[in-house]
Amino acid sequence: MKKLIIANWKMQRGYRESLSLAKELVKKLPKKTPNGAREIVLCPDYLSLSAVGDILKKTTLKLGAQDSAPADKGAYTGEVSPAELKKLGVKYVILGHSERRRHLREESLLINAKIKAALARKLIPVLCVGENLSQKEGGLAKKFLNEELRQALKGVKIKTAADLVIAYEPLWAIGTGQPIIPLEAEIINRFLTERAAMILSKKVRVLYGGSVDATNAGEFLKQKHVAGLLVGGASLRAAEFSKIN
Ligand code: PEP
Repeated sequence: MKKLIIANWKMQRGYRESLSLAKELVKKLPKKTPNGAREIVLCPDYLSLSAVGDILKKTTLKLGAQDSAPADKGAYTGEVSPAELKKLGVKYVILGHSERRRHLREESLLINAKIKAALARKLIPVLCVGENLSQKEGGLAKKFLNEELRQALKGVKIKTAADLVIAYEPLWAIGTGQPIIPLEAEIINRFLTERAAMILSKKVRVLYGGSVDATNAGEFLKQKHVAGLLVGGASLRAAEFSKIN
């Protein structure tokens, strides 16, 4: 399967900036993946999603959302429906990102409902999991990750291995410029691949995310169980992101 590279622009770019960034990437990226060796996904903020989607039409780049609601329709002030995202041409949706867990108090029960609602609309959830520094230092990373996975995937059913993606994002590596050592990512990604296979009966893709940039991406992508990358900061600069392949 193609390695998956997902750009998470978070709330770092406004409407106009997102459109220019998308246009710049359209010019740079398709030439970099002539044989379709990578699937590249851009996740702008909600305000820019539709317009960026228009820019990506007739290109090899795919559209992703940074979150979606736990239901298709109803009294959910401020939320965005997975059914509407699907109509816009969104393919992937990031769910359970650590910033949403931390700043917006999102918990596993809600993330689980969002995963099910996204799958019902044939969106591909990108479930983010990751331990914090004290869990890592206390030797509790695997125990914690297993529990995060178990809760988020409770009762989740997928038809094929391509229907869901997991992103391993150690909290201490996100936005710090200090990524995990690629071999360590391989060990954890393999663990997550195996645990998810037990829960879902399918060998889903597991990405790595956390301070990936053009200088270290290649080493991560060489690892057998690193099915791709989730990129934050380095995806905001077209010249840098276009070198991550
Ligand atoms: C992220 O927030 O998903 C992320 C990976 O960010 P960064 O690449 O900036 O560490």
